[in-house]
Amino acid sequence: MRLTTVGTGTAAPTPGRVQSGHVIEVGAIRLLMDCGSGIATRLADIGIRWQEITHLAISHFHADHVVDVPTLLYAWRYGQLPPRSRALDIIGPVGTLRLLSRFAAVFGDGLLSLGYALSVREVSPGDTIALGDGVTLGCTKVPHTEESVAYSVEGHGRRIVYTGDTGPDEALGTWAAGCDVLLAECSLPDTMAMATHLTPSQCGTLGAAARPGVLALTHFYPPVEAVDIRGEVGKQFGGSVVLATDGWSLDLEER
Ligand SMILES: [Zn+2]
Ligand SMILES: [Zn+2]
Repeated sequence: MRLTTVGTGTAAPTPGRVQSGHVIEVGAIRLLMDCGSGIATRLADIGIRWQEITHLAISHFHADHVVDVPTLLYAWRYGQLPPRSRALDIIGPVGTLRLLSRFAAVFGDGLLSLGYALSVREVSPGDTIALGDGVTLGCTKVPHTEESVAYSVEGHGRRIVYTGDTGPDEALGTWAAGCDVLLAECSLPDTMAMATHLTPSQCGTLGAAARPGVLALTHFYPPVEAVDIRGEVGKQFGGSVVLATDGWSLDLEER
């Protein structure tokens, strides 16, 4: 199983960081989780074959997590020869179908009939669905927006948890417990703490509860990059911490 953080930024345009999006490659599955502005181009930048994405999972509907969905949908039709024929699986919270139809209201109905099948599955917190090739995707509710979920990708002896955007949540630590990689948002410094995002010390608390093999942090607003993230996290979590960058990737040997 291989995780690549494609975009580690936020709603704030930041040099070197596009908005949110991460890829997990495991067996035949190529799962893109979130697809904010810049993700389509960044996939190409870092040499991930965007043509081969099999599944797209959306954590919530904020623009910095979804605006490049139309970009990729069109890319698969107009950006390659021959155009995509393989179906695309889209997974997201309840409201994902409405989001897609709203995109279609802007760009035209053709957006959803580009010559390859779209299968849209709306999931509710607690659901676990099979992606194929022995890989499952589970989700749990997180405190950010009403629909926000975190995802757990499990298969081939490995498990990666992605928080999406979240505030502090004890249940999330329990849910993520023992995962190989916990990819957690780290939006703001402790001086700017709020209920719907994490600070470095809150990431430390989450890491201490979940005890992942690697705690990888992403979704950095500029003010958090001015503080000692690693130092703050390390006060509570003694394990391995990575401050992810666009294109960072980690290979987990399959078990
Ligand atoms: Zn965000
Ligand atoms: Zn958000």
